[in-house]
Amino acid sequence: MKQIIVFILMLFPLIAFTQITVDTSFEGANARVLSVDNTNNVLKVESVLKRGDTRNIVFYFRISGIDSTRTFKIRVQFSQSYYPPVNAVYSYDRITWYRILGTISGNYKEYSGKFNRRTIYFSHGYPYVYSDLIALQNRLAANPFVNVSNVSYSESGRAVKLFRITNPSVSDSGKSLVWVLGRNHVMESNSNYVVEGLIDYLVSSDAGAETLRNQAIVYLVPMMDVDMVFVGGSGKDQLPVDFNRDWDSPSYWNAVRDVKTRMLQTAASNRMRIFIDSHNPFPGETDTTGRLFFYSMQSSGVKFQNLNKFRTMLFNAGGYYWGRKLLYPTSGQSSSKWADSVFTNIDFSASLETGWIQRTDNALWSLPLYKLNGKVLGKGISEYINQSTSINGNEMPVRFSVDVFPNPFNGIVKFRISLEKISVVKIKIYDVLGNNLAAVDFGKISAGSHDFTFDASSFSSGIYFYEINAGNNYPLNKGKLVLVK
Ligand SMILES: [Zn+2]
Repeated sequence: MKQIIVFILMLFPLIAFTQITVDTSFEGANARVLSVDNTNNVLKVESVLKRGDTRNIVFYFRISGIDSTRTFKIRVQFSQSYYPPVNAVYSYDRITWYRILGTISGNYKEYSGKFNRRTIYFSHGYPYVYSDLIALQNRLAANPFVNVSNVSYSESGRAVKLFRITNPSVSDSGKSLVWVLGRNHVMESNSNYVVEGLIDYLVSSDAGAETLRNQAIVYLVPMMDVDMVFVGGSGKDQLPVDFNRDWDSPSYWNAVRDVKTRMLQTAASNRMRIFIDSHNPFPGETDTTGRLFFYSMQSSGVKFQNLNKFRTMLFNAGGYYWGRKLLYPTSGQSSSKWADSVFTNIDFSASLETGWIQRTDNALWSLPLYKLNGKVLGKGISEYINQSTSINGNEMPVRFSVDVFPNPFNGIVKFRISLEKISVVKIKIYDVLGNNLAAVDFGKISAGSHDFTFDASSFSSGIYFYEINAGNNYPLNKGKLVLVK
């Protein structure tokens, strides 16, 4: 009997359907059918304006009834002159996505191809919907370094998620502050994968991520405009105000207002070092040299130099070039401009524009590469914070480095401390629960390199942390010790 049922089920798809249908009854979908030509296999749809939208250039829909033996054409009509991306993506299962290149002809974009299934999902970019954010939160629920809270509630009552990543075993006192936002512009869906890739890196066991968690608290709001993501709108230049033009007070949107408040609160106890807002430039917004770049307010000065130093670190971490551009003066009231003006001692503030078509080394951006871009970003942030050599405000350019060896160790560990000038040096050792196990005050130490040994042979095997304080000129130097007996 079972065999008969299987046989019938297998026969079923062999029956030819010619009727094309379009479904938009799912989260984040957007399209309206204009015409279906079953004879010539052409589907024509248009992008729909959602809440306050002014740009009908995004789309996301499911097509059923495709004849896999014939070429199928999808035409998406748009009425905006704003340049839409020429490549779209499709999927059979919404897990694996494939790129498809389009052509622009008049007021529509045309995509043509043969598809292996009767049903496909079709989107202007790699879709990242609100449920994906909740899935990310759930996936990381047991991770000891992540705490997720609701920083705000949208106009429709959806929670705006704030991810806080740090090592809770290391005191927050003296840690650097890093803030990262995403999806101020909803149509730039690929930028959400950059943030997710960054989060995955930050919670990973990579040595750089571990160092960063000991030295910094990283706050991330992956999705700012949750309502527009949910309804599948564009968001860019929406009315009454674009999310990324809403940062000067008073803010219109709940999420912008509440995230600003939280940023200010966190900066009261930890120094704001880095602010990054993740975007995608559409092809019309970029050029052949700037497919991946940072917008910033600075064209000279310390913040300019800090961002350049960071870009060099990113190049070293990823092997491809991270460009930079001056933020349009007319696009003021943006998140990065606001952060730049409020946190005057910040190392740098920038909008990250991860390109749409090609990376600066000509590799085609894909979903895995967007995530990788987030990882490279995380490595760069770790290296930048770890070097702690930024010259900012009235601080002197200082150099203070610590080498710990061997590590892992089995009794005696050596700290080599290099100082640029005479300083008072103290070392603290504590366990994973934050209990203070040893504190040594070396008093005034001359400039240069000094070795100190620490005898931990009475400790049991496990993970410990050290914290070296070399006076107010230097940030605390913290790290992990692994004792193996
Ligand atoms: Zn944007």
